[in-house]
Amino acid sequence: MKVLVIGSGGREHAIAWSLVKSDKVDQLYAWPGNPGIAQIGECVEGSVEDLDGILAFVEAHDIDLTVIGPEVPLCMGLADKLENAGHKVFGPRQKAATLEGSKAFSKDFMARHNIPTAKYEEVTELSDAYEKLNEFSYPVVIKADGLAAGKGVVIAENETVAKETLKEMLSGEILGGAGKKVVLEEFLKGFECSLLCFTDGQTIVPMVSAKDHKQIYDNNKGPNTGGMGSVSPNPFLQEEVEATFRKDILDPFMKGLAEDQMDYRGVVFIGLMVDQGKAKVLEFNVRFGDPETQAILMRLDSDLFDIMWACANKKLKDVEVKWSNDTVTCVVLASGGYPGNYEKGKVITGLDQLDDDIVVFHAGTALKDGQLVTNGGRVLNICNKGKDLTSTREKVYQAIEKIHFDGMYCRKDIGLH
Ligand code: AMP
Repeated sequence: MKVLVIGSGGREHAIAWSLVKSDKVDQLYAWPGNPGIAQIGECVEGSVEDLDGILAFVEAHDIDLTVIGPEVPLCMGLADKLENAGHKVFGPRQKAATLEGSKAFSKDFMARHNIPTAKYEEVTELSDAYEKLNEFSYPVVIKADGLAAGKGVVIAENETVAKETLKEMLSGEILGGAGKKVVLEEFLKGFECSLLCFTDGQTIVPMVSAKDHKQIYDNNKGPNTGGMGSVSPNPFLQEEVEATFRKDILDPFMKGLAEDQMDYRGVVFIGLMVDQGKAKVLEFNVRFGDPETQAILMRLDSDLFDIMWACANKKLKDVEVKWSNDTVTCVVLASGGYPGNYEKGKVITGLDQLDDDIVVFHAGTALKDGQLVTNGGRVLNICNKGKDLTSTREKVYQAIEKIHFDGMYCRKDIGLH
């Protein structure tokens, strides 16, 4: 089989790494991929938003399965385009992808199908927004409706901040079109976690749990990032909560997909807030999370290609999804200054010094004059699978001591908070 992976991050490297372990995958391509993926497959230069270019590539190279990593091409309708032309895809169609592409659409879906979530109001006019604010207490959560690369949610502590944020979002001053519609939401207390599942629209199979670390500094301080590390299993997840996911959230979610005729074949990532044993949904993402995926896929004992192929063909119920009981720690090495401004092009050394049980996924790297250099905010993911959190953390942090690039930064407390 020939498989094409769309995307270029650590998530896509982990997907590619897992796919090439399958004896059914003869050739792996990535569009555009990265230097890590280039070691196990063929990378093709191109933008993930070039839907016509991707379709032409799939046809020219007789691709059997296209796996779409990032949300942007999913929300643009890449799955529809490929499937309408008769090609197999792992990734939901545009209508289902709107569960991530529009917060208002997603909240309406939850309300319609009795999926527990925070109380909310949708607004497009400033005067209406100010009035609706009175229905909420502080802090209040203000969310831009559209895709905003993780920057669309503001937790406003008081009325002044709330009004200012609403003005900026609704005027398009910040976030452009993404903020022209806004969701006001009740602030939920509790413990945040996420649940990733494979689905073919009929069957849903939860993956093992993982915990990510969003803030840039230790002890969960500082601004949010794309994610600074992950561990699997999630050491903080309470079993009684896990037991209620299916009845409270997954069953109504699947019923909702069927009732709304959403063709969903891919991954659904459910962001949750858990308080006193009860989970409420914060958001749906329609793709793998990064860096949770890196830790989760290292624990997959089944063949990822079989699972993805089964999803694409609506046969997930026929596949057994097996996981190892091991623990994985994944630490992100970032460029100094990230998530603010940072420099690129710093030479990366030491990767050839690492023990065999360290797995390195590339994210923001590039090859320049034959040398591996930094090319993004999150540069590398350093991972180890082993018996427990203590030993895998130790292994990963020992490995990191051998790696160098100017300005290299990582959190030292991945898995601890
Ligand atoms: P979202 O993109 O909707 O998941 O929001 C991003 C982050 O904002 C979440 O991961 C939470 O940390 C926080 N957040 C979102 N909605 C709420 C809420 N209703 N109550 C408390 N925190 C929230």
